[in-house]
Amino acid sequence: MKPTLIPNRRTYYVPHPRYGSQPRITGINVENLKDGAYIRCWTASELESWTRKNSFYGIDPAHIGCLIPDTAIVADPSRQVGSSVASTHYYDIEKKCRDCRQLFIFYAEEQRYWYEELQFPVDADCIRCASCRKRSQMLDRLKARYDVLSAAETRTVSEEVEMTLARLDLIEAGIFHPQQIERVRAFLNRHPDHEQTATIRTRLAAITTTA
Ligand SMILES: [Zn+2]
Repeated sequence: MKPTLIPNRRTYYVPHPRYGSQPRITGINVENLKDGAYIRCWTASELESWTRKNSFYGIDPAHIGCLIPDTAIVADPSRQVGSSVASTHYYDIEKKCRDCRQLFIFYAEEQRYWYEELQFPVDADCIRCASCRKRSQMLDRLKARYDVLSAAETRTVSEEVEMTLARLDLIEAGIFHPQQIERVRAFLNRHPDHEQTATIRTRLAAITTTA
């Protein structure tokens, strides 16, 4: 008898814009790794489980990062880079987002895209749900833009505004230390009548009351 694992739990997963919010059932399983099949293992304990049980049924369903049965797809090892052992299959994998702590699925199709189309090293792991990843990328771009503005010898007033708004975003996201609030206040002192001043003041008040 096959134990039932994740598919019957009807868990909420953070939706992925391309792949949805539930496991994508293919009906394919790789039950005998001795047949030359290899699935990318994600943690030492998972690897141990795999080795010991020789099938995913040995993995504790509560273990975060576990494979979802019946979701395997066939991989193309010749297109993968960065690992001595190539994966022959990908599974949908249940993971917990590092940022929002919600469950999400690192889809088998997405892994194929990462490791075969984009040629990310097979060791590259997915640690954030799709929406946190998007937010994280947005913040990276914002920080890069902030750094450019910050390094400039002179700035226009609109660049000062842009920099101040970016600073607020980065403080709110926890990337900048709250001490940066003083520099926002300094901007307000320099430009008390700018059209963005009211917005900046409101956001600053919200940060300082929650801090
Ligand atoms: Zn998340």
